[in-house]
Order: sequence, then structure tokens, then C-alpha cells
Amino acid sequence: MALSGIQIYKLLPQTNCKECGFPTCLAFAMKLAAKQVELASCPYVSEASKAQLAESSAPPIRLVSLKADGREVKAGNEVVLFRHEKTFYNKPGVFVKLADSLSEAELQAALKAVEAFHVNYVGIDLSLDGFAVENVSGDGARFAAAVKTVRAHSKRPLILLAGEAGLAAALPLLAGETPLVGPATDGNWQALAALAKEHKAALLVQGESLDALAELSEKIKGAGLEDLVLQPVAATLAGKLALNTHIRRLALKKNFRPLGFPTLAVAGSAEEAVQAVTKYAGFIILERFAPELAYPLLVLRENIYTDPQKPIQVQPGVYEINNPKPTDPVLVTTNFSITYFSVANEVESSGLPAWLVVVDAEGMSVLTAWAAGKFDAERIAKSFRTFNMADKVSHKRLVLPGHVAVLSGELEAELPDWEIRVGPREAVDLPKFMKQAL
Ligand code: SF4
Repeated sequence: MALSGIQIYKLLPQTNCKECGFPTCLAFAMKLAAKQVELASCPYVSEASKAQLAESSAPPIRLVSLKADGREVKAGNEVVLFRHEKTFYNKPGVFVKLADSLSEAELQAALKAVEAFHVNYVGIDLSLDGFAVENVSGDGARFAAAVKTVRAHSKRPLILLAGEAGLAAALPLLAGETPLVGPATDGNWQALAALAKEHKAALLVQGESLDALAELSEKIKGAGLEDLVLQPVAATLAGKLALNTHIRRLALKKNFRPLGFPTLAVAGSAEEAVQAVTKYAGFIILERFAPELAYPLLVLRENIYTDPQKPIQVQPGVYEINNPKPTDPVLVTTNFSITYFSVANEVESSGLPAWLVVVDAEGMSVLTAWAAGKFDAERIAKSFRTFNMADKVSHKRLVLPGHVAVLSGELEAELPDWEIRVGPREAVDLPKFMKQAL
């Protein structure tokens, strides 16, 4: 049962020493009750109080990490139901299912395709997180052989979908790793919990209702296992949405510990995968690998799991496009990723060489930054001086984005030696402008 702020305060030293960063123990207690700080921030809590506060200070959704060869896929530790309230923290790990009924050649081909899949989205490298090997054959030895093949061709974290025999055969192959194993059900949980405990694995807990999941997770916790992942099972998209939303709501709003774990979703279609990313899977298993689904899914994940208050940015600086010479044009834009890549991609694909000066506009697009006073003549001039543009080119001519033509007068005053040209409003029109006007 969660403690109130006053109950927590009574267990603190009450010296108001401020070392936790709060002016009083009461202020710290209130933040702890709201799950906004860690108990470890107070160095003076007695061991007896720590034991009593452990329950209250634990995150409402436990952090579970799958690990292999230095790679880590984390889920949990989320604090809000809706992204706009604050942010979502740990992106759901996306795994590709591989059946142990595949031949060795088929397994290797599937592994190779996923391992080769890398895309770059606004400067971020995207790839899949791991594999979920399924014991379709029902044969423990065959399952272990499939896991061995996967491990020989990939270092990514694993999920092992198997019963007792399959896990007993395969888990010794993954010493030093933390895979997710299961699913544990009412019928097999004791054996699977014992194996997960022995091999330091996280355990998948499967159930068709909130009651069934809560009951089973409590039994497994009672057996000494803490790292659990819930797999709510429903026949329809709507059913899955309802179960996942209830789990998240009960964990966050009611601090209901039996459901305070990340969840796993198995996605057989694009709709299921999209729903899993948005509501609220911690781990997602794709039934099959298809690059045309993986790419938009990873982009969606990136967009959902970025802090809405922190735009994706590129480093301010001078970017050389198509090996420019000192006589080539100088373009100016802001450091909002999508703005930068729109401009850079248009110029790069045209084959025209240019110097692109990216001004620190706190990650905002051209018009937004201008309206917010973050992209003005002073900042642009300062960037030109900081990046020594006068030494890089043999001319003094710069192209201002058309949307901020209004800045040209002020910029002439800030950079008196430079000729200011007003470029097009849209990046797509830049190549034509560069050919005709420069
Ligand atoms: S560090 Fe501990 S004792 Fe000091 S003010 Fe914070 S809660 Fe109180």
C-alpha cells in the first residue's frame, strides 16, 4: 500500500538539512509520495525506515532490462499516461520472431536480413532490438540449436518463447545475459520461475484478464522473482487496447503493484504494431520482419518517445554539401533536425555544392524560431563569426531563408561586408534558385 506524504515524512530524519535538494524533509516527502524523486537522494534515512519506504519509493512501473553483449533494451519506469503530460522514457524494444521449426539456412537468412536493416532518420540511426525465438517444434534440443544459431549470428538481446524443456536446454547457452523467457501461465509458472531465477532471466507472465495477470504476478513475486513482464492476451485490437490501458492506469494512478510491470505485445499486423507502440507496450514482438513496416514503426517510436518539450536537433555548425569550393554559395538555416535535413537533402540530391551554416535556434524551425526571437540577425551574424565563414569562402554572399526575408536589413547592419540574398521559402525550391540566381 502506498504511503502518503505525511506518512513518509514521519519516517524521514526531519532535520531539514536540504542535501536532497529540497528546503524541507516535508517537501521531499511530498515529492517521494508523487514518485518524482528517488529515496536515495536523502543520505540520512535509517535502514529501518528504508525497509518501510521501499514499497513507497519503488517506481510504479518496474524497470526491466534485457541485456546481451553490452546491449540493453529497457522497458518500464514510465510516469505518465499521456505523452503531453511530461514524456515517455523507455522506447519499446522491437523484436523479430523466429521459429525453431525453420531450417538452419532459413534461420540464417532471416537473421541476416534483420542484422542488415539500418536506416537513418533525421540523423538518428534506427535498427531493430533483438529476436524472439519460439519453440514451435516442442523439442528442447531443436530449440537450443536454434538459439545457438541465433547467438552465432547476432549479439542482440533475446526473448525465448518456450516451456520448461526448451528453456532448460537453451538458457545455459546464454550465460551472462538477461533474456526474457516464458510465457508463464497458471499451469507452468513454478517451473519457469525457478529457471528464470537460476539463470537471472526476466519472466513473461501471460493472462487473459487483469485479475489473472495480477494473481499470477503476485504468486511469482512470492517465489522471489522481481523482473516480470506482463503479456495481456485478447482476441481483438480493442480488447488489447483496453487491457493495456487498464494496466497502465492501475499502475500509475492507483499504484497497484501486481500490475506495476512493463507489458509485451505480439504484433501480427501493422495495426497491432502501431497500437503497441502508442499504447503502451514495453516490448514488441513482430511476427515477421518486413522493412516496409519496420521503418515507419521505428520512426513512430522515435516520435512518440522524444520529449515533446525538446525538439530533435542537429549540431550548429558549417555543413559542407557536395564538397564545396570557396567560390560556392553559402546557405543559412536553423538547427531543427527536420529543417536541416529538408534543406541538406534537397541540395545534396541536386548535386550542387554549397556551404550550409546551421544556426543554433534551440532546435526550432525557421519561422517558429524567428517568432520566438531565436533566429535573428544577431544570432546569424554571431554564427558567421564563430564558424569563421569569411575565411572559408572567397566571396561575401549568403542566402537567407525566404520565410525570414524581413531580417535582411538588420543582417546587413550586423554583417556589413556581406551581400544578403533572399532565397525561396521552401527547401524544395532551393536547387532551382541556386541554378538561376547564384
Ligand atoms: S536530505 Fe533527508 S534529512 Fe535532509 S532535508 Fe532532505 S529529506 Fe530531510
